[in-house]
Amino acid sequence: MFGTLKPQAPDAIIQLIAAFRDDPRENKVDLGVGVYKNAEGRTPVMRAVREAERRIWEAETTKTYISSLAGEASFHEAMAGLVLGADYPKDRLSGLQSVGGTGAVRQGFEIARLANPDTTVWVPDPTWPNHVTILDFMHQRHRPYRYFDAETRTVAFDAMLADLEQVKPGDLVLLHGCCHNPTGANPTLAQWAEIADLLLRKGAVPLVDLAYQGFGDGLEEDAAGTRLIAARLPEVLIAASCSKNFGIYRERTGCLLVLTDPSNRAVMQGTLAHVNRQTFSFPPDHGARIVQTILTTPELRADWEAELTEVRNGMLSLRRQLADELRRLTNSDRFDFLAGHRGMFSRLGATPEQVEKMRLDSGIYMVGDSRMNIAGLNEASVPVLARAIVDAGV
Ligand code: PMP
Repeated sequence: MFGTLKPQAPDAIIQLIAAFRDDPRENKVDLGVGVYKNAEGRTPVMRAVREAERRIWEAETTKTYISSLAGEASFHEAMAGLVLGADYPKDRLSGLQSVGGTGAVRQGFEIARLANPDTTVWVPDPTWPNHVTILDFMHQRHRPYRYFDAETRTVAFDAMLADLEQVKPGDLVLLHGCCHNPTGANPTLAQWAEIADLLLRKGAVPLVDLAYQGFGDGLEEDAAGTRLIAARLPEVLIAASCSKNFGIYRERTGCLLVLTDPSNRAVMQGTLAHVNRQTFSFPPDHGARIVQTILTTPELRADWEAELTEVRNGMLSLRRQLADELRRLTNSDRFDFLAGHRGMFSRLGATPEQVEKMRLDSGIYMVGDSRMNIAGLNEASVPVLARAIVDAGV
């Protein structure tokens, strides 16, 4: 039977990791995989995470199943406070503890399909490739909307709105809440308001994928677009990942927050439990417990926010250094967009040949679409990258 299986296309980023590992050059630079790294190239355990783990270990008396298939309500509430602000509408909220942000996105798609089997999922072009491959795997209809202006490297807002004009009632529109992956280009708050108006007018439901809250301008600032959408639309899905901002990638922690009319809340909460039950039954506990502990313990929360601020400021500073260096080398402001982008990623706008040239000549590894992980840089490698960009003729 298994002889019928076809080989799956290898994941481009996993391939890139292997190629980087096998490159013997000492000054090679890894801008590929989407993981935060400090100036020494390490992904440390955050201080508050370590302390929360110690407290959990000391207090835990059982490893029996948690209380609910959709995860602990205290985790949903802590995440809703983080994402939506302390005054979020409690009577509209349902929550699902998921296996990473990916699991939250997947369960969001499942919920939309259960509610409306005819739904079309609209995804930005470009988007995180997993969005598209998951939808294909689910045999779920999806359509792209234009998102990125390759010339200015900013959001192609008029094109985006023009494409979204074709959205039908009951369609699902996927939006990146902040720090767009792979481009780094994000709508302004005024543009978020226009997006909200359009979705409201169309009767479409947004699925906000929020994987980098705190990596852009700040925890509050990065949630502003999501909060505006949540305030204006009657039904909203939000898939929040805790992998990046808590640095707990391997714990697989995420949360699907759903806002509905209060009259639909009980059915929605039951549906979320059902969807988890049919997928893997109870969600993993450890990462969610870490997050819940940090968010509800004032001194841990303050320490986490302080460390997250250091992480964010480090990336903002690298962006500025890179843009300044390129200004110096090119005598132009052509690359200033790098300082304007937010989050870990920027799409440089290089051709695949130029990406290959930078890898061969300078040992710089970025994804083939020229997505760069800014956190893969440090003060020493910024000038190396800037020189390689110029030499490759980008
Ligand atoms: N959405 C986006 C846009 C992402 O970039 C990522 C991480 N690469 C995720 C969701 C999911 O992250 P995870 O499942 O590791 O929490």
